Amino acid sequence: MTETQTHAEPSPKNESTHAFEAEVEAVLRLVVHSLYSHPEVFLRELISNASDALDKRRFRAISEPGLMAEGSTLRIRIEPDEKEGTLTIADDGVGMTKEELTKNLGTIAKSGTRELAEKLKAAQEAKGDVSLIGQFGVGFYSAFLVADRVEVISLAAGEREAWKWSSDGQSAFTIAPASRVETGTTVVLHLKDDQRGMLTTWRLEELVRKYSDYVHFPIELRQTHEKEGTPPSYKTVNQGAPLWQRPASEVTEEQWHDLYRHLSHDGEKPLAYDHFKVEGTQEFRGVLYVPRVPPFDLFHSDSKGGLRLYVKHVFVLEEAEELLPRWLRFVRGVVDSEDLPLNVSREVLQDSRITRTIKKQVQKRVLDMLSKLAADAPEDYTLFWRSFGAVLKEGLHFEPESASKIGKLLRFETTHEESALSSLDDVLSRMKEGQGAIYYLTGESKKGLLGSPHLEALRKRGYEVMLLTDPVDPFAIESLREWEGKKIVNAAAADLDLGAATDEEKASQKDADDRTKNLRDRIRVRLQDKVKEVRASARLVGSAACLVVPDGELPPHVRRMLSRAQQPLPEDKRILEINPDHPAIRALATLLDEKPIHPDLERFIDDLYAQAQLAEGTALEDPGAFARRFTDLLAGSIEAARLGTS
Ligand code: ADP
Ligand code: MG
Repeated sequence: MTETQTHAEPSPKNESTHAFEAEVEAVLRLVVHSLYSHPEVFLRELISNASDALDKRRFRAISEPGLMAEGSTLRIRIEPDEKEGTLTIADDGVGMTKEELTKNLGTIAKSGTRELAEKLKAAQEAKGDVSLIGQFGVGFYSAFLVADRVEVISLAAGEREAWKWSSDGQSAFTIAPASRVETGTTVVLHLKDDQRGMLTTWRLEELVRKYSDYVHFPIELRQTHEKEGTPPSYKTVNQGAPLWQRPASEVTEEQWHDLYRHLSHDGEKPLAYDHFKVEGTQEFRGVLYVPRVPPFDLFHSDSKGGLRLYVKHVFVLEEAEELLPRWLRFVRGVVDSEDLPLNVSREVLQDSRITRTIKKQVQKRVLDMLSKLAADAPEDYTLFWRSFGAVLKEGLHFEPESASKIGKLLRFETTHEESALSSLDDVLSRMKEGQGAIYYLTGESKKGLLGSPHLEALRKRGYEVMLLTDPVDPFAIESLREWEGKKIVNAAAADLDLGAATDEEKASQKDADDRTKNLRDRIRVRLQDKVKEVRASARLVGSAACLVVPDGELPPHVRRMLSRAQQPLPEDKRILEINPDHPAIRALATLLDEKPIHPDLERFIDDLYAQAQLAEGTALEDPGAFARRFTDLLAGSIEAARLGTS
């Protein structure tokens, strides 16, 4: 074998020195700083890269058979050298060109670099939380945890010239011509003095078994006990078959977790996983994971996600979105199909029947896995919900056929319990006798919603109300409309139905209408540009007035959201409801009867409207004027208190 005897003869005139991108330097420091207590992760990272490189070479060889001559081996070799104090990891993968060495190992190629640096800093501040490292493609730099000099010698597939990247991990690296006969990459670690303990074969074997047994290429460890002059001997220390192709009983949970780490670049364990095998008209296997921590780009419009696709055990595509609905884009995993052609392209994938079958099966599996998680581990499910609930909800809109399955997975805050999350089924089971519908209210915060006048009548009846604060909630709930035959109703709707009215209630509504007739007419004239109707309210208890939304109109916080996003807003046509039994309304009605041209009447009406806007969180047009009038009132009340008249 020649891979390991690839010492470059740096010809100084061809050697070039390059500074690391500033972010790389920051990342390097952070990696070393926050992972110093787990130096052994470097091996997992370098084997993971070697495994990816082998996958890529085998894939490229499908269309360019020349890249893999007959009899080519595809393996990873680990070679400790106690005399030199080096550890070498060599692979027969695609290799890297000179440009790739510079770009892949000298910059952080992925988008969101700034975000990455910030998150790493946060992780570092949170001490010990190293889970984020590796999530962003910083895996290679972990080599500097154990080495004070790293050399990467690589011959890219289809190229003739090999190159060597070399660095002490401080601020610069050099690139120089090298010799390497076979395609692939050799990483030489010059170990720090205190890391030489890494060089024992049993320790290396243990680490490979522990972290890298999922790798489906042979990992060979060079044995150190041979005599001078004899050719080196190697021992294969992993099993070498893809995990999903092994009998389920032979794969441990740990191994599934390691595969997840490799696929996701996430240092944490997944929250749940499911491996499966489908046989019949089509055959495919795979494994699906629900992550514990959201990837940093979950809500970026260009975040891809998707599954890793293998065809007949050969890696084909990295982020096959075609196999996963977008509203499940947080799922990671592998699908290995026996039926797709090896040279499948994204175009073929997009309109293949095989893809559709796989996607359907994957979707069903994920929803089942989530139901199981919700039933078996509610705390973990809550964790999932807080990270990914907003994404899952998109499914209600895009996949109405699955609405009842997704509906079971939804969680909301409600007026029932102070902090816990409830499901629609929970809310249903707590419905009061005579309660005609499931009620919800949407807004920015739970606290704001709890003070809303719209809750008053529902509360008085003991009805539970779901408090929806996610910006997508109004749309999500709109797609659902009902649950188990019960309508899902906006508590701020103009036509709020609180159940069948008794004769007594009907009579009292009529009385309220009559009593407020004049006042309502007067308010309507004064506020004609702002509301389209003024009603005597049956829903208000402690508040004097509130604004309600006619069917089909936008709720106030959605209007606010759109206006912040500078979107055009349709005309606001809301209804003002006044509480006929509130002292302020009674007094105003009396004032109007007795002094219909009192100069302050209009101002009182404006204030009534302003407080209804305030109660729903809408900003006033002239908050300063309102505040001044309020302080005038306050002055009066204080004076009254001082004089002991109230
Ligand atoms: P990631 O694996 O998340 O992309 P790394 O820091 O581990 O990030 O590696 C950076 C890049 O360097 C890889 O994406 C790959 O393109 C390249 N690379 C690293 N090791 C190898 C290797 N052994 N063979 C080929 N390319 C490699
Ligand atoms: Mg990597």
